[in-house]
Amino acid sequence: MREVDVIVVGAGAAGVAAARRLQRERFSVLLVEARNRVGGRAWTMRHDGLPLDLGCGWLHSADENEWATVAGELGLAIDPTPPPWSRRASQLNFSASDQSEFTAAWDRFDQRIAAAAKQKADRPARDCLEPGGRWNGLLDALSTYINGIELDGLSVHDFVRYRNTGVNWRVEQGYGTLIEACAAGLDVLRDCPATLIDHAGQRVRVDTPRGPIAARAAIVAVPTSIIGCEALRFAPALPDKVEAAAALPLGLADKVFLRVDRPDDLPVQTRLFGATDRTATGSYHLRPFGAPLIEGYFGGKLAHELEQSEGAFARFAIDQLAAHLGGDFRRRVTPIAASAWGRDPFARGSYSYARIGRSDARAVLAAPVDERLFFAGEACSLDSYSTAHGAYRTGVAAAEAALQAVAARA
Ligand SMILES: Cc1cc2nc3c(=O)[nH]c(=O)nc-3n(C[C@H](O)[C@H](O)[C@H](O)COP(=O)(O)OP(=O)(O)OC[C@H]3O[C@@H](n4cnc5c(N)ncnc54)[C@H](O)[C@@H]3O)c2cc1C
Repeated sequence: MREVDVIVVGAGAAGVAAARRLQRERFSVLLVEARNRVGGRAWTMRHDGLPLDLGCGWLHSADENEWATVAGELGLAIDPTPPPWSRRASQLNFSASDQSEFTAAWDRFDQRIAAAAKQKADRPARDCLEPGGRWNGLLDALSTYINGIELDGLSVHDFVRYRNTGVNWRVEQGYGTLIEACAAGLDVLRDCPATLIDHAGQRVRVDTPRGPIAARAAIVAVPTSIIGCEALRFAPALPDKVEAAAALPLGLADKVFLRVDRPDDLPVQTRLFGATDRTATGSYHLRPFGAPLIEGYFGGKLAHELEQSEGAFARFAIDQLAAHLGGDFRRRVTPIAASAWGRDPFARGSYSYARIGRSDARAVLAAPVDERLFFAGEACSLDSYSTAHGAYRTGVAAAEAALQAVAARA
């Protein structure tokens, strides 16, 4: 049986960060990854030389985001252009005065959430909407992009814990490219979904299709969906972990990329909402990086529905966009890629949210077991959950805890 100091299960942002930290201390470390690529929910595809991030794209809280530092170390370029959501959106269907009204409605909503979160009992953020408010549909749509769920499922306790410095940058070559580049030089077993982690003995044993692997400690860095549905099991069983993972399900967000011929009439780096009066709408980033592209974003129930049929994201996006950009637009546009994170068996969703009253589950999930099993991944982060930098931090924290535990036993 192969033996290493530490085995890391899952080569996403958290697993890669953990393995890199362990390798720096000259520990033998093996990453076991279910897919044939590293990066997990960070995934850059290339189309005609254009990088398309189907998963994470923005270095959120970029001024304190470790991935931004790693990008610099690896010689990747950072684009600090402020994101479209921090600037005026297209006025084709959303006048400047309506945008100001909407921003004010968001600020009032945010204040009511902050006040509600001070109460002991958790509540869904929907309770903080103004009854009959004109912008409630669009506020709900934003929740589907930010959290992957509608406001009726969003915990105010969890939401206010999220830390956001308001600075957002992009990696020109793609966020997925960055995490993949960071994994160069790490020992990764690809196409190798772990099925069982046996932590009963002195050594942890991880069962995989390529046989068992033994280690002095294991770091579990798979999405909560995988632990919650027991695609990866533990022996002895860890019902607290399974329960915590189930309390932190993954919401859904998906992207579509469209290529546009003769794009010069489209404003660069600008957001256009498909509609401003409902939850079920796409949000479209026109010409990211100035490229001849439109990046569409969909969340929550709408994303679930569109995942059900092939090509549905592109059809929905083109219908919404043609209504504002004119009939000729249909002839100029070609769908080039779309994600379906909910149907992906190794993600089963996009990013974690806490069920109402269950924000505490993040700490339960992150807690080590017997100083042999450590947990990482975006859902383990108390204040940067749902992000790649939150995942990074939990990976490094798990690696440091494993280092200490192994050294103490040596
Ligand atoms: C559409 C979309 C947009 C996003 N936008 C942003 C953004 O702009 N900025 C941001 O910071 N974040 C964003 N995110 C979230 C970000 O991508 C994730 O939070 C982060 O990548 C999660 O990293 P992770 O390591 O926790 O999990 P993952 O990336 O999911 O890594 C877990 C790994 O475990 C593997 N695995 C699963 N099961 C097994 C098994 N049984 N055995 C072995 N391996 C297994 C998976 O294949 C995967 O590689 C976005 C996500 C999506 C889907």
